[in-house]
Amino acid sequence: VAGCIFCGIVRGEIPARIVRSDDDIVAFRDINPMAPVHVLVIPREHVASLNHVEAEHAGLLDRLVAVARDVAKAEGVSESGYRLVVNVGPQAGQSVDHLHVHVLGGRDLAWPPG
Ligand code: AMP
Repeated sequence: VAGCIFCGIVRGEIPARIVRSDDDIVAFRDINPMAPVHVLVIPREHVASLNHVEAEHAGLLDRLVAVARDVAKAEGVSESGYRLVVNVGPQAGQSVDHLHVHVLGGRDLAWPPG
């Protein structure tokens, strides 16, 4: 949608370090990485947040998580460990209103998260 940064990346109008892309999903490096591996996995379609996933998006979450898992493997953190994060809403700090899964790895990750 107009004004959405991640829609701009999907359309190729905003530069990004894309690591994986298919018909439904794009994965690219976070511009402000919080870990040695920090990749965002997003649907090409604009879905504002996890709260906005509807029946019409059947299979989308499966594919997002599967791509995130494959990215972790490709980035070499499959065995050392990684974390998938989906921030939803203001208290979780969601700052881009286009559904995205963070793939974080390459260092020890504190639990519980902040
Ligand atoms: P969240 O805070 O969960 O909404 O995550 C949004 C993430 O998008 C943050 O980690 C930002 O660093 C990242 N981000 C924002 N703009 C860009 C961009 N143009 N390219 C790559 N990552 C971005």
